[in-house]
Amino acid sequence: MKLCTTQKLNNTSTMNTKKIGWIGLGNMGIPMSQQLIKAGYPVTVYNRSKEKEASLKATGVAIASSPNELIQQTDIVFIMVSNDEAISEIFNGDSGLLSAKTTGKIIINMSTVSPGISKQMAALCREQGNDYLDAPVSGSVKQAQEGQLVIMAGGLPETFERVKPLLEVLGKLAILVGDTGAGNSAKLAINTLLGFHAQGLAETVLFAQQNNIKTEDMLTIINNGAMSNVFAKIKGDAILNDNYQAAFALKHIAKDLRLAKAEGLNSPLAQAAYQTFQAAEAEHGDEDIIAVIKQISK
Ligand code: NAP
Repeated sequence: MKLCTTQKLNNTSTMNTKKIGWIGLGNMGIPMSQQLIKAGYPVTVYNRSKEKEASLKATGVAIASSPNELIQQTDIVFIMVSNDEAISEIFNGDSGLLSAKTTGKIIINMSTVSPGISKQMAALCREQGNDYLDAPVSGSVKQAQEGQLVIMAGGLPETFERVKPLLEVLGKLAILVGDTGAGNSAKLAINTLLGFHAQGLAETVLFAQQNNIKTEDMLTIINNGAMSNVFAKIKGDAILNDNYQAAFALKHIAKDLRLAKAEGLNSPLAQAAYQTFQAAEAEHGDEDIIAVIKQISK
């Protein structure tokens, strides 16, 4: 059930004495960290590129110079960065999280990464006396701005319960799906469906165009029928407006399908989506996922 903002704020009252650290201020990290600020948490941020941190100064965040400094100053650290390589740097870098040798912290990795890297980082965290939860999200910038993400977590039940009030600030649903890495596995599964939807929408629109059906009419038909969904509405508007600025960059779905393939995904639609998005990445990687329509129309 959807919680209104007041209910969400009440639910956080036992947690918001905790100091929050936020690493990664990309398309998702900025609106997600803003939700925590709005809910009254003290938030310290770190981002590799400094201009993104500066853009948040007016919202009252503190800025840490490194992950090392950030974890020392906070209790619970969220991470929302691109990929496994970024996670390795944030944990293992010279000024990384592990270099601080803290204890008693909870690190919540919300990035879409491999189950394997979560298992590695969770083990390293636990050796130091910290805890780790993988908690990737379904939903994009709009859902992040509205605190309406769907969060799928992997880790210890007691850790999940401790941080659930925070997750409920960020999302309309937070669900524990298994042990460490299980959240990542669930996320790779849902993003497989996302790849299918994006490619399916693009192919449907192109087929209609080939047969002289106006794109606007085709999208109206989709959006009013049984195939309608939030994704088709938002991405249909992007196609109509010829606006491919990334909300969810195509390079990320190309990465997610690579990760899913490495985890054993090899079914017919998955093979097609894998090939399409890998081919699209070089030219359209920094554009939105729905720029796949440009690749398919070539
Ligand atoms: P984004 O806009 O591309 O931002 C990526 C973030 O990762 C930036 O803060 C970037 O720092 C940081 N980063 C990249 N490589 C790094 C490294 N080696 N060391 C330190 N920081 C590094 O990505 P996003 O759209 O916010 O997505 C973040 C994650 O959430 C991804 O795993 C993505 O698949 C997933 N996701 C995205 C969406 C969506 O709709 N956008 C939805 C669900 C899940 P710089 O600013 O310095 O480059």
